[in-house]
Amino acid sequence: MKTCPHLAPLERELSARGIALGEPRVSPYGESAGHWCACECTFDAPALRTRLALPDCVTYEEYDGRVAGSDATFHCRLCQRAIMGIHPHYAKPATRRIA
Ligand SMILES: [Zn+2]
Repeated sequence: MKTCPHLAPLERELSARGIALGEPRVSPYGESAGHWCACECTFDAPALRTRLALPDCVTYEEYDGRVAGSDATFHCRLCQRAIMGIHPHYAKPATRRIA
């Protein structure tokens, strides 16, 4: 497992779909937000939360900083681990959407 037990259902989902999850790296928001793993897909967050029964400690946020960068991320506030996907505004036609 690269993330934490709370994000594990999502990690397994990505792996089942053959979507690569990057190694944990310091969050783009700094050390205090923990270590995040990147993947090349967008998320239908409400659908995933329900289907995978993600716990309340896992939050989902989309951030569009334009040239400063962007992300769409499931973050576990207990473990400070995250799975960082692509913001829907920056998805390419080939970018897969996970629901
Ligand atoms: Zn956790």
